[in-house]
Amino acid sequence: MIPDQPEKVRRAEKIAMIFEQVEVGGDRNFGYLIADEQTREAVIIDAAYMPERMLQEVARYGLSVRFIISTHSHKDHVAGNDYLIEHTSAPVVMHESTAHPCTVRVKDNEKLAVGNLKLRFLHTPGHIPDHICVLAADKLVTGDLLFVGKIGGTGAHFPGSDPRQQWESLQRLTQLDHAIEVWPGHDYGVKPSSTIGNEMATNPFLLAKTYEDFIYLKDHWTEYKKAHDIA
Ligand SMILES: [Zn+2]
Repeated sequence: MIPDQPEKVRRAEKIAMIFEQVEVGGDRNFGYLIADEQTREAVIIDAAYMPERMLQEVARYGLSVRFIISTHSHKDHVAGNDYLIEHTSAPVVMHESTAHPCTVRVKDNEKLAVGNLKLRFLHTPGHIPDHICVLAADKLVTGDLLFVGKIGGTGAHFPGSDPRQQWESLQRLTQLDHAIEVWPGHDYGVKPSSTIGNEMATNPFLLAKTYEDFIYLKDHWTEYKKAHDIA
């Protein structure tokens, strides 16, 4: 008979992470709570219009909020920051290029320790210049860069947007491990999360072989959606 000791040892070696996707109002916005289960230190990402709901989750798990993170400066993503600052006093983390008020400015590939967890930031402009994705173990919070089956907007509605940068940012995600999970900033897809590999196999914008094909698809997206029965 094997005693339960080896199991305990394996568990001790693995850093346990709390990861919660929370519906936070707006246009089907998703906020995220990520925490180190052992030290109970947490970050809140994109609390949007329901920061109090995020703090309910924090209380339910008995966590302490170390950082408030915004994937980018669009109002629906930063709207909850003031409430969170007031109730947690945690600093706001954003990309170094942002014009939005924040405390910690991070660079591309910079890491941030949250208890035993290491978050990594990827600068992913295109939808807006200050956009970042947040990698936590095997989970990537993709903000408004990549949705399930869709991508973020560019054009006149989105000042500073740049389809070429968006293409490059998306291509960069395809270089990551295909098993990495995709956790988007909005619930626009057929399911609330995906993987890099699944998006590469099914998302029409990642199936585009060239930048020209990508732009053609963006320009004809309404027709494409109709033709393929996409909501
Ligand atoms: Zn946005």
